[in-house]
Amino acid sequence: MSESLNNSSLHDVSACAITRLLPGELSMRISGTEKTLFDKVWDSHVVTEVEGETLVYVDRLLVHEGSRHSFSMLRNIDMEPFRVEQVFGFADHYMPTGTTEGGIPGVKDEKVRGMLELMEKNTSQTGVRYFGFDDPDQGILHVVPPEQGISQPGILLCGADSHTSTHGAFGSISFGVGASEAGHIMATQCLWQQRPDTLRIDVDGELPFGVHSKDIILGIIAKFGVGVGVGNAIEFAGSCIERLTMEQRMTVCNMSIEAAGRMGMIAPDDITYEYMEGRPYAPKGTLWKEALQYWQSLPSDEGADYNNEIQLNVNELVPMVTWGTNPEMCLPINGEIPSPDSGADDDERQEIAAALEYMDLQPGMGMEEIEIERVFIGSCTNSRIEDLRAAAEVAAKGKAKVQTWVVPGSKSIKRQAEEEGLDQVFTEAGFEWRQPGCSLCTALNGDLLNDGERCVSTSNRNFKGRQGPNGKTHLASPAMAAAAAITGKLTDVRTLG
Ligand code: SF4
Repeated sequence: MSESLNNSSLHDVSACAITRLLPGELSMRISGTEKTLFDKVWDSHVVTEVEGETLVYVDRLLVHEGSRHSFSMLRNIDMEPFRVEQVFGFADHYMPTGTTEGGIPGVKDEKVRGMLELMEKNTSQTGVRYFGFDDPDQGILHVVPPEQGISQPGILLCGADSHTSTHGAFGSISFGVGASEAGHIMATQCLWQQRPDTLRIDVDGELPFGVHSKDIILGIIAKFGVGVGVGNAIEFAGSCIERLTMEQRMTVCNMSIEAAGRMGMIAPDDITYEYMEGRPYAPKGTLWKEALQYWQSLPSDEGADYNNEIQLNVNELVPMVTWGTNPEMCLPINGEIPSPDSGADDDERQEIAAALEYMDLQPGMGMEEIEIERVFIGSCTNSRIEDLRAAAEVAAKGKAKVQTWVVPGSKSIKRQAEEEGLDQVFTEAGFEWRQPGCSLCTALNGDLLNDGERCVSTSNRNFKGRQGPNGKTHLASPAMAAAAAITGKLTDVRTLG
């Protein structure tokens, strides 16, 4: 199945590009004006344009248990998925992470069990490849596709979750869609969209000791605001980004949506190709060579125009932690909680006051004075093997003072971590080693904070109640979360040696 997908998907992309172009236009495009990475991928997916709206071809669709309405849509109009081999399903949002013994029938919560049963039924009836409850590669929809080679450069990928931007780390256009859009894609493999503006964020410099890719994206949002990328296709570039591993790039692109970007992208390079080669759904043999040639043409041309450009130098970046109720309310760990008076206008002053009240914090408090009750290391932002290694390195320095969960992003990551002995490091430090899934990122599976608890979380959203009723979330990197676990308060991981 993977080989046939490889063949069809590569040809689909080429066919889509060729059918749209007029004679002579292809060579004009190749030798014409400079284009950004986004322009190249977008232009090769345009099917038609009508009154400012563009119909784009979708190479991959990712769905999860919450996508039941998309399947109902198809059933209601008596249709089957148009190209079912390009749709992938995942058991993640509702997966139990305590125990999976007894299979789906063993899931105690009736609603959670019902969602899992329904997804099994929907995917088996339609023939969608399902990384389900019992699949050896089950995991989060933004973790498994990169592992499997489903996420590839130059494709257009949609997912039924806003953090679909993660896959842009491979140089693809990847964005989240709602249930009816996912249904439309299943039926037609196309989607109407408006062409977004482009924003280039150059990230230069060397990451200092104790500073991770999570700090880069939190640093960008703290500096430029949650609205900096509104509606834009954000391309992350610069010397720092070029040195990041694929897993680090995924963390950055994952949270581009928290900067209001429509998507985040990073140009593919040798790091990308090395990561992808040999993965189950990656092209093989001659197709790999053809694909590589296409991928190598994707990075933005020198002198290509963006609608907006901003820069961040990371040489002085410090580990970042959110203090408030959106990711912009974020400070270096050695910072102090702001006063409402620091707001630029009345709206901002009210926002700060409301966040302080909800988070039960006082202006002027040092970040490191904040005591916590829970730690969550997981989610599609930070549950990959490098994240777990970073957390384990810190966990080895002490014992958990608060309840701490480690939730790998997939079964494959769980296996690898266990082979490396990371699970032992965590359990010896008193951390709880759990089953893969979304878990406390969004708390849909019943994994919840107790009422009002304060949690350091490696996830991507610190909105009110996201992790449970009145829950107070502080977003941080895996290393910073592990540091908080062994001290019981927000802690500068750099001081732990
Ligand atoms: S971990 Fe959180 S953000 Fe990621 S897919 Fe799951 S619920 Fe969505």
